[in-house]
Formats: sequence, structure tokens, C-alpha cells
Amino acid sequence: MLKVLEITANGYERVVVFRDDYKFYGCIAVHSTKLGPALGGCRIFPYQSEHAALIDALRLSQGMTYKASLAGLNLGGGKCTVLADHPTPELMHKIGEAIEYLGGLYVSAEDVGTTVADMRLAAAKTSHIASLGASGDPSPWTALGVMSCITAALDYTGHSLLSVWIEGLGKVGWDLACRLHAVGAELYVSDLRPELMVKAVEKFAAKPFTEDAVDNITLYAPCAMGQVVSARNVHSIRFPIICGSANNQLVQDNYAEILQRNGVLYVPDYIANSGGVINVAAEIGQIYDRQNVKTRVGLLGEKLKHVLEIAESQSITPLAAANMLAEARLQ
Ligand code: NAD
Repeated sequence: MLKVLEITANGYERVVVFRDDYKFYGCIAVHSTKLGPALGGCRIFPYQSEHAALIDALRLSQGMTYKASLAGLNLGGGKCTVLADHPTPELMHKIGEAIEYLGGLYVSAEDVGTTVADMRLAAAKTSHIASLGASGDPSPWTALGVMSCITAALDYTGHSLLSVWIEGLGKVGWDLACRLHAVGAELYVSDLRPELMVKAVEKFAAKPFTEDAVDNITLYAPCAMGQVVSARNVHSIRFPIICGSANNQLVQDNYAEILQRNGVLYVPDYIANSGGVINVAAEIGQIYDRQNVKTRVGLLGEKLKHVLEIAESQSITPLAAANMLAEARLQ
């Protein structure tokens, strides 16, 4: 039996913590449903603490609100985080019950630590899970969107694509590596899973990323966890472009200004990685149209250029310009 604790968090519509007698700990944060039900993935991760899982749900759900808004979707932002090493059928059933508790206010999907197959297990307990229908795994769409933004960022800055550091070779990072390799980029890679590193070296002649490679790299693609730009490195990062799929790449939004001052083009993560949500949204309340999704995701680079033009004309960062556009729909 799940124990439910409702929490008040400033700026959030609903935050709920779920526990049971068997060490289950999960949170669902609903940041906003102003534009529609709060969509966001279910993340299973061995967080260092319950507090860390809660903070992640809060940050990620807010990011989802902005992402859906800027993508022009009629959806809000939510997120489910669960403190665990890996999914099991029993765990997925508990998560399903937690999602069901919110009665459709929050719609879930897979994320880091979960797959479509895991979410299908959760669906035994709730009908509020997207991405189980025709749209399938959103990761290739996310990678396509990142690639579209990389192309636009290169075009806008006049850089040519020489070498890329892909951090994280999971569902999105691997697909992105295939795309970048196909256009002749030299790949530097890092991942905690040695087998993926070996595979990348074999398949793409990729080099394991080391600090010595930093000066060679044109583009850094964070495709693992977020918070990669922190107080520790924000002043020293000199990659000409940062564009990847990880959510919440900046520990603080004002780091975008420091990066800009240092000549780094930081592509707002929630534009670059919105291909997946565009794909998932296409099966909610309508017949899934793959061609339409392909067109929309392929146009993310154009959306980024629009954001970059606004940023330049108003002397603000691309992140501030993206936030302005997203917030305009949320008024
Ligand atoms: P994934 O779990 O399939 O892959 C993540 C990979 O990163 C794993 O291989 C893991 O070993 C590796 N990793 C973890 N910590 C690392 C570290 N410190 N250094 C190097 N590698 C590390 O996840 P994914 O679905 O590919 O998503 C990647 C990122 O993109 C996540 O931040 C996710 O929130 C974000 N994202 C994904 C989607 C999607 O459609 N899958 C959509 C939007 C955003």
C-alpha cells in the first residue's frame, strides 16, 4: 500500500511523494498544466538521497513545461523520479499506482533508467502513460532534433564540424554518434559503461574523451545526466558550441551569460532535446502521423535560429530568448 504525502512547492501545481514499507521512494512533480496535462518521463536513478530525487523532479518538471510550451504543444510539464538502482516489474507496478493517483494530471513516459517495456509494466496500473502506442521510443527523435540544432548552430556561428565530444552513449547519445559519424565528424566519447566505449571505438573509430582533447573539440554534446555546467567549470569551458540532449545542463540559468561572454554558444537544452516530446505528444488524443513528426522535429534547427536571432537583436542569451518565447505562451 503506497503512502502519499502532498508537498507545497512554490510555483508548482502539485508535488506528491510516494513511499511504502519496502523502501520505495518516488516523487511526482506537476509544474504546470496551463497548456494541458503535465507530460514528462519517469526516471529511475540511484540518487544519493530522497531529497536529491525530489529536487530532480522539481527541476525537470519545470524544464518540461518550458519545453512543451516552446515546442508549441498543448501540454504542461511534469516528472516522476524514483530512487532505485534499476526497474523491476514490482517497482514499475508501484510507479503505475503513483501515476494513477494523480488521475491524468500527470502523463508519464520512459526516461533515464526506464524503457518503453518498463513503462508497459507500469501501464498495468494506470492508463496515463504515453509512448506505448504508435510513437514508440522517443530517443531517435530526440537525437534527430539535437542533430538539427547542431546543424543550425554550426551554420549560425560559421564553424565547421570537426570534432565532437559526446558524453553519454545511451539511447540518444548512440543515435547521435551514428548521425555525426555519417557526416564525417571526429568523435570523442565518454560513458560509464565500458562496453559502450568499446563499441564506439570499434564502430566509429571514436577516441575516449580525456582533458587533453579539450582544445580539439568544436562541439560538446552532453547526452548523459544534467548539471554538467557548474561552478566548477563554467569559467573554464571553451568549447565553441554546447548542444546535447541532457536535461538541465546548467546548474544555474545565469551560467548562460558567463558562457556567452566566453564565446561559447550554449544551445538551450530544452530546444535541442524536444524531438522526443514532440513525438510522444503526437499520439496523445490524435492519430499518430510519423511524417508530420519528422517534419516538425527536423525544423527544430530553424526554431533555434529564430531564438538566436532574437537573442542577438536584444543582446540577451539564447536561453533568455527561449525562456521569453516559452513564457509568452504560459501567460
Ligand atoms: P540513457 O540512460 O539511455 O543513456 C545515458 C547514458 O549516459 C548511459 O549510457 C550512461 O551510462 C551514461 N552516463 C551516465 N552518467 C555518465 C557520466 N557521468 N559520464 C558519461 N556517461 C554517463 O538515457 P537517454 O535516453 O539516452 O537520455 C540521455 C539524456 O538525454 C538524459 O539526460 C535524458 O534526460 C535526456 N533526454 C532524453 C530523451 C529521450 O528521448 N531519451 C529526451 C529528452 C531528454
